[in-house]
Amino acid sequence: MEKLEHIGIAVKNLDKANQLFAKLLGKEPYKIEDVPQEGVRTSFFDVGGIKIELLEATRADSPIANFIEKRGEGLHHLAFATERIEDKMKELSDKEFRLLSDKPKPGADNKMIAFLHPKTTNHVLVELCQEKKS
Ligand code: ZN
Repeated sequence: MEKLEHIGIAVKNLDKANQLFAKLLGKEPYKIEDVPQEGVRTSFFDVGGIKIELLEATRADSPIANFIEKRGEGLHHLAFATERIEDKMKELSDKEFRLLSDKPKPGADNKMIAFLHPKTTNHVLVELCQEKKS
């Protein structure tokens, strides 16, 4: 992994959470983005190069809706940047980490993403992300 890219936080109400985090961090989110295929609306704050991603569910079957129902709002995932996500997925799978998808998927903030099953990562949901090449 190249670096901790962002920390994901599940929230019930993105607009309220944006106000709270803007007050806390002293800056506005640099981006608010819908990711319809994941059923989430996200916002991003840049804190010294590491980002805070707030995630609000946009439909009842969204993974974020499930998470909040089971565990409440709060820390949701750690995302690590990688240069070659498919190679990294293969490498981690060979090391017996379980992946939640076979292939990277489009995520927010111009990224391709994949998740590791929290059962294989000490109950911390881990995201791999790679900047989309345009
Ligand atoms: Zn993320």
